[in-house]
Amino acid sequence: MSPGAHTCHALGCATRIARAQLMCRDHWRMLPPALQAQVKREFRAGQEIRQRRPRPAWFRAARAALDYVAQRECDARRHEQAS
Ligand SMILES: [Zn+2]
Repeated sequence: MSPGAHTCHALGCATRIARAQLMCRDHWRMLPPALQAQVKREFRAGQEIRQRRPRPAWFRAARAALDYVAQRECDARRHEQAS
């Protein structure tokens, strides 16, 4: 894997994304605008560089976004099984 690239943080997603991104475009689009805004607001340029730790507020926003996506995908799977 090239430096500066990693994979989407959503559960089970292997899509390659830039290091400064939290999720791939598909997962990002699942978020409600308020959560997208929160993640963007707490993001600080350069935080993806290993020596600079993201702020705790960013981790909280990122966690909320990832939990939301995981919940949505879980609901979708249940729906598929029911039909
Ligand atoms: Zn993804």
